[in-house]
Amino acid sequence: MVSKPPDRDVAEDELSVTTPKQWAAGIPGVVVSLRRGVEQMGVGRTARTLRLLNQREGFDCPGCAWPEPQGHRKLAEFCENGAKAVAEEATKRRVGPEFFAAHPIAELAERTDYWLGQQGRITHPVVLAPGATHYAPISWADAFDLVATELRALSTPDEALFYTSGRTSNEAAFLYQLLVRGFGTNNLPDCSNMCHESSGAALAQTTGIGKGSVSLADLTLADLIVVVGQNPGTNHPRMLSALEEAKGAGAKIIAVNPLPEAGLLRFKNPQNVRGLVGKGTALADEFCQIRLGGDQALFQAIGHLLLRWEAQAPGTVVDQDFVDTRTEGFADYAESVRDLDWDAVLTATGLDRAEIEQVARMFADSERTIVCWAMGLTQHKHSVPTIREIANVALLRGMIGKPGAGLCPVRGHSNVQGDRTMGIWEKMPEKFLAALETEFGIAVPRKHGHDTVAAIRAMRDGQAKVFFAVGGNFASASPDTEVTEAALRSCALTVQVSTKLNRSHVVHGRTALILPTRGRTERDTQAGGDQFVTVEDSMSVVHRSRGRLDPASEHLVSEVGIVCGLAQALFGPDHPVPWADFARDYDLIRERIARVVPGCADYNEKVRRPDGFVLPHAPRDAREFSGTRNGKANFTANPLTVPRVPPGRLLLQTLRSHDQYNTTIYGLDDRYRGVKDGRRVVFVSPDDIAELGLADGQIVDLVSEWPEDPTGRHERRAERFRVISYPTARGCAAAYFPEANSLVPLDSTAETSNTPTSKSIVVRLESRVDSPP
Ligand code: SF4
Repeated sequence: MVSKPPDRDVAEDELSVTTPKQWAAGIPGVVVSLRRGVEQMGVGRTARTLRLLNQREGFDCPGCAWPEPQGHRKLAEFCENGAKAVAEEATKRRVGPEFFAAHPIAELAERTDYWLGQQGRITHPVVLAPGATHYAPISWADAFDLVATELRALSTPDEALFYTSGRTSNEAAFLYQLLVRGFGTNNLPDCSNMCHESSGAALAQTTGIGKGSVSLADLTLADLIVVVGQNPGTNHPRMLSALEEAKGAGAKIIAVNPLPEAGLLRFKNPQNVRGLVGKGTALADEFCQIRLGGDQALFQAIGHLLLRWEAQAPGTVVDQDFVDTRTEGFADYAESVRDLDWDAVLTATGLDRAEIEQVARMFADSERTIVCWAMGLTQHKHSVPTIREIANVALLRGMIGKPGAGLCPVRGHSNVQGDRTMGIWEKMPEKFLAALETEFGIAVPRKHGHDTVAAIRAMRDGQAKVFFAVGGNFASASPDTEVTEAALRSCALTVQVSTKLNRSHVVHGRTALILPTRGRTERDTQAGGDQFVTVEDSMSVVHRSRGRLDPASEHLVSEVGIVCGLAQALFGPDHPVPWADFARDYDLIRERIARVVPGCADYNEKVRRPDGFVLPHAPRDAREFSGTRNGKANFTANPLTVPRVPPGRLLLQTLRSHDQYNTTIYGLDDRYRGVKDGRRVVFVSPDDIAELGLADGQIVDLVSEWPEDPTGRHERRAERFRVISYPTARGCAAAYFPEANSLVPLDSTAETSNTPTSKSIVVRLESRVDSPP
């Protein structure tokens, strides 16, 4: 029996708090997975769907980008969050024309993301005409004509923005960027701009390729795995199985994070009896409770110590052969860390020197080291130098391009890496653009387009008038909520290709369209027969994904179909790109991918192999660094940044609860952190609570301060958050996004990558007169 969507919205006054968990997964993980599935899909559909999740002949998880093992797959090759993601997509709840007729847009705009998402799958394309109070049905042909007419009316193609979320398949992404470039712009902002752009920028400079250099098998070969600024228990849960396996093979694990997340401490693997009823596996051998933004200092200190020990015992620490033959810039780097400012390092990290020396010693003793990281590292002003500093340490030790070692940025959304490979980037290299022109006989622009932050600015400033999004929830995912929402509202047209309702449907342009699409779980039958799509995981493995469920509605069109339908309306019948053929048979798209996208030769054949294929990666495969400017891996010297927080202020990070994935809110509990039935909370250390004269449980406003704001808006306020006493690092606080996104100034971004600094916002906590301690 499928349960109805909630008829009331989130009530924060029902929020309760218990002690944070010291372990992740176990029986509660299984129970919650099944309960969410049954609530949304019923028993039979839950069983039918989950048995295909992440299986070779099934569909790829729409959650994160963690890879599947090569060869044997378990019967249940998924985690709690994967099960929740599938339940949300394969839900039997429906949002049809009668729903939109009953709910005016003004009412929907008052609802939370959680309530909107719980209503179910959108079944028909709908339009919100200028001044209308309700979305109303529209035919697909009229919808495509409407978009094409608006696009043609622009004074330049650069007045249009084409956003992509990381769930878009390779085939849809390839065609989408082709459409956009064929139209005449490189305005292709994507969700990667807000997450791992810093990783790509740093790795491209240091190793020549903006992707990680390890495989899943490497994790089990490593003798040291360092997990930095990452919470795998919630964001990449099957990584815990890999860490457990590595521990079983003798690896040591170091966790570096401001919060002692349950998934970093102990894992109760639900796939085995010991995990279900026993104590599980202790994961982190060392937990460094670092301050927000202190990671660069930590890795500088590690580099400094490694070099000092090498000087004391030459030939024992530095991989001199690797450094001599494969790298450049060693002398400058060594010089930059020789006279380390330990006071600055200790201030930035909040760690003591003995702890840092202990960690450095583990690096020195390791033969095979992997460093993994996620958003905790990528969303600071100095994120790119921080990741370059990690690369420095890996290069010193020769930890790239050998089994069991490497750099591992762990991607968030399931195909965010694949979308970039397929050309979703506002500044694709010339070689790719030239190949597109040769292949399709069209001209494509060279001027770089807008990334996400630049796209918001362009809308805000009246320079962009059409916003088109394939997937995602741009209004909620982006920083500076008030600015982003005003920017979207200033557009002439906003278009969302979506499966379910979200905030971006109620924060709309003068005209708005919702184009409902099929999900990963669903069969995709076209004139050429049943189709599959392909995706790329976080470790560069490209493989098939094929859904088997009947689509939620006969009116849904696949993402590929939507791109092709729009292209035909926009370009007319005589366009050199055979859009209609592509919509009929996805093999024809893959033939073109094979000729345009580097590393994808024989794509149709290789993706049909049982586990797909691994894209080439010169540093990993051959210790070659042909992608850098000098053909070598590059050490870099990076001035140390010590985050400065004025007295009486805290450094705030935004993070996910255990009951959400990106902006999709599955439920209102954060089981691991002990929060139930609410989301407006701010986690603060008990010592900071006392020092600030606050009380556990008190309701406060969060006020972010950024005096450098070029727009002159130096403060932003998010109201009514409950203070939760939590063992965070001193001086550091945390609150959930998207609720706290309003505090992140649009122009506060990382150097080089332009990623919003969502992990380092200076805030003060203001007591509310209506809620005294
Ligand atoms: S680890 Fe990621 S990809 Fe795997 S099932 Fe969980 S959410 Fe899905």
